[in-house]
Amino acid sequence: MNLILLGAPGAGKGTLAAILIEKMGVPSISTGNILREAIKNGTDLGRKAKAFMDEGKLVPDELVIGLLKARVAEPDCSKGYILDGFPRTIPQAEELDRIAKIDCALSLEVPDEVIAQRMSGRRVCLKCGATYHIENFPPKAEGICDACGDPIVIRADDKPEVVQSRLATYHETTEPLVGYYRAQGKLKAIDGTQGIENTVKFAAEALGIEV
Ligand code: ADP
Ligand code: ADP
Ligand code: ZN
Repeated sequence: MNLILLGAPGAGKGTLAAILIEKMGVPSISTGNILREAIKNGTDLGRKAKAFMDEGKLVPDELVIGLLKARVAEPDCSKGYILDGFPRTIPQAEELDRIAKIDCALSLEVPDEVIAQRMSGRRVCLKCGATYHIENFPPKAEGICDACGDPIVIRADDKPEVVQSRLATYHETTEPLVGYYRAQGKLKAIDGTQGIENTVKFAAEALGIEV
């Protein structure tokens, strides 16, 4: 199954993806994680993407479409994948329709008021991409990634003023994708405000998979 996770920044896409990969046996692809890794490694892609990301703006379509195409062509994607953070614009969705058959777009509905609490407590591991929350989903040892032992950090773009700009970009440019996939009969929307366990339950029900 090829699944898209839609939702505002901080809606819980990455957290849900990390749980669904176990249940569905397919990898998840986070364009945000790939871009952050490129920045950390100082690659050409990272240098081009950094200024946009620091300001809470989208990275240009041609850059992300290029990296996405290369990633889905890798062998581990042959049985399907979960897309977390792609597509984010109508041209990205149209390009995706040309290269893949999407089965479902699952939208996590979380109002902007809830996003601020999610973002202010978010901590991430830049090594393995794992995501935590200081209150909602703390790591076992404070400040340390459960999965790989690296220190966990606050993302550069999780500052309140950048979060506001990312939310504005979301409503203007990404939210229209809800209508795009609804028109294709592929949209499933779930309440993303009810804690991680319930979100997983609602997602599994919507997708018809076992939890
Ligand atoms: P979040 O988890 O908060 O939704 P991501 O990690 O998915 O954030 O993305 C972080 C940043 O990376 C975005 O604000 C944007 O600058 C860039 N980015 C990630 N995916 C895309 C995409 N599909 N198109 C354009 N920019 C992207
Ligand atoms: P996204 O990938 O959509 O930007 P994340 O998965 O990174 O969102 O989640 C944003 C923050 O909210 C993280 O700190 C995460 O631990 C926390 N979180 C995720 N899902 C939930 C949920 N259902 N309830 C409460 N907190 C959540
Ligand atoms: Zn880690």
